[in-house]
Order: sequence, then C-alpha cells, then structure tokens
Amino acid sequence: MTSLYGLTRDELAEALAGEPPYRADQLWRGLWAEGRPLGEVTTVPRALRERLAAAHPPALTPVEEVVSDRGGTRKWLFALADGATIETVLMHYDDRVTVCVSSQAGCAMGCTFCATGQAGFTRQLTLGEVLEQVVVARREARPARLSNVVLMGMGEPLANYAVTVGALRRLAGDVGLSARHLTVSTVGVAPAMERLAAEGLPVTLALSLHAANDATRDELVPLNRRYPLERLFAAATTWVERTRRRLSLEWALIDGVNDTDAALAELVDFAAPLAAHVNLIPLNPTPGFLVRGSRPERVAAFRDGLLARGVNATVRNTRGRSITAACGQLAQVSRGRRVALRRR
Ligand code: SAH
Ligand code: SF4
Repeated sequence: MTSLYGLTRDELAEALAGEPPYRADQLWRGLWAEGRPLGEVTTVPRALRERLAAAHPPALTPVEEVVSDRGGTRKWLFALADGATIETVLMHYDDRVTVCVSSQAGCAMGCTFCATGQAGFTRQLTLGEVLEQVVVARREARPARLSNVVLMGMGEPLANYAVTVGALRRLAGDVGLSARHLTVSTVGVAPAMERLAAEGLPVTLALSLHAANDATRDELVPLNRRYPLERLFAAATTWVERTRRRLSLEWALIDGVNDTDAALAELVDFAAPLAAHVNLIPLNPTPGFLVRGSRPERVAAFRDGLLARGVNATVRNTRGRSITAACGQLAQVSRGRRVALRRR
C-alpha cells in the first residue's frame, strides 16, 4: 500500500474519484501546505478520511524515540509496514532545523566503520516512506520551522536513485523547501553523481570521501574498488562544473588511519582543485570496528592544516553522540519497544 505522502497531486485526485473535485485541493492543502495529519484535515468529511486512511495507512510506526542535547536532537526508530526498521533524526540549530532521513532500510555498501553497513541491506525505501519521514519531522519540529533535509540517514541515496530524485523534487515543490537546503550524501557512486548533476536540481552534494589514497579508501569503503579515486574525482569535477554548486567532502577522522599529515596532504590534493568544503567528524565508535575516532586536539590540528593550505573546513559537532545517533546505531541497540511520539 502506498503511503498517502507518496501520491502525486494527480494520484490523490484519482484516489478521490467520485468525490467533488475540490476535495483533492482541500486534502492536498491540508496534508502539504498545512502539514496536518490526515485525521486533522477537517475540511474533508470524516468518512472520506477514514476510507483514505484504510487504503493508505501511515508508512511509519514509531518504535523508539531518543532525545539528547536538551531536546535539541531527537532520533526515531520507525518500523515500516513489513517490519523493516529505519532511523530519522531531527536537529535544532541556532539558524536552522534539519532532518536527517534514510533512503534505504540497511545498506549494501558495507563500509567497515558504519553500523548500517555492518548490518547489511534489507530493502529500498519507497518515495512515500522517504517523504513521510520529512512530514513527521516537520510536524514534530513545531513551533520551529523545518528548513533543511539531508539524505544522510541509513542507506545510500544514489543506489535508490529514482526515489531520491523524486523526493528532492517533491521537497523543493510540494513541501516548499529551498533546493539549496537539501543535501544528498553519497559514498561515491560515480555514474549516479554525474546523472544527478544533469537533473537541474540545485541541491548540495556531500561526498563521503574519508580517504584520498586508494589503498586506505579500499579498506574503509569497499565501493572504492569499483569507482576508485581517479574516477570519483572525475565525477566530482562534473558535479562542480555542471551545477556550479559547492561540493562537500565528508571525512570521519579515524585515529592513525586518516588523520595523519600524509592523509592531510592527499585530501588537500583532492579538495583544492574542486574548491570543496571539508566536513570533519570524529568517528563515532561502532562495535566491531576496532579503531577509534581522533582525539579533539588532532581534529583541531587537522582542520587548521586544511585551512592553512587554503581548503575550507569545519568540524561538525557530533549531534546525538550520546544517543548513538551515528548512522544505523539506534537500529542496532533497539529492543523493539513501541513508543508514541512525544508532542511538544
Ligand atoms: N550512504 C551515504 C549516506 C548515509 S551515511 C554515505 O555514505 O554518504 C551518512 C554519513 O555518515 C556518511 O558520511 C558516512 O560516512 C558517515 N558515517 C557512517 N558511520 C559513521 C561513524 N561510525 N562515525 C562517523 N560517521 C559515520
Ligand atoms: Fe552505506 Fe553510507 Fe554506511 Fe557506507 S557509510 S555502509 S554507504 S550508509
């Protein structure tokens, strides 16, 4: 069954066949512009809402909610209709409210440091399942206004390409978010990066680089054997040239692995010609991956080294570290308790 939020405007009108034509407008406005749950779109008769709810039940059932940063970060584990689980994280900052959404249940890429990668792939998410994460987060963010969406939760968005691009278009259209405030994070599916560059979507692309020599990157990111750095650099160049959008490079600092002076020099060689912005994140510990995140002094020194060589860099604060908000970690520890979303 399709999530109500997976329907286009025309599909919604079809689902309402036999009703007066203005019903589709009322519902569409209630669901998208006003962001109400179906039960609260009271411009539409209750019987009709009930019929729709039976045909298009919510795709997401909250299983667990974890709150940290004094309520500034909230993370949900959602069960899908078939029992697969995904994570969504809502983060309040001074200047923006961001939701981090999943694009797949699990992930097939097998990055060695990533909890999602260790757990393996379950299935692709549907368009409705991706959009519903944003709708729920937008509602829960109130009275603050959700401004940013990052496809940086579970899964590899560019391995679920049609859904990712469909979601970006709907978010920039029906949900009314600025495309500039939408970010796709990719492990580096080079051909899909080039395809995305041709979509005419002014979104931000974040490339999870983590190493700029093939030997190390092969170990951290198995996909590097398929699309090694030279191929990735070509795709990144296409992205920058075609879109004129800034490229972000994600770099999870791992003690003694990619935080050395040699690693710094390699990163500068990759990032500088692309005028890329580097996001440094100390690695979140993952059970089963036996190295640690870099110490805070090393993180700061690495950032300063980049800045001194003319590469823009910031250290991303590890939101939700205390609630195991790193990719895939909540799903790993959950005991399947069911909770209701807290209203605020
Ligand atoms: N598959 C996509 C998006 C989801 S992962 C990608 O890989 O980009 C989102 C980000 O979390 C990626 O940059 C990934 O490298 C990072 N990540 C995964 N596990 C992590 C960990 N244990 N500590 C820090 N960052 C991690
Ligand atoms: Fe998948 Fe991204 Fe985790 Fe790699 S880092 S396993 S691509 S979710």
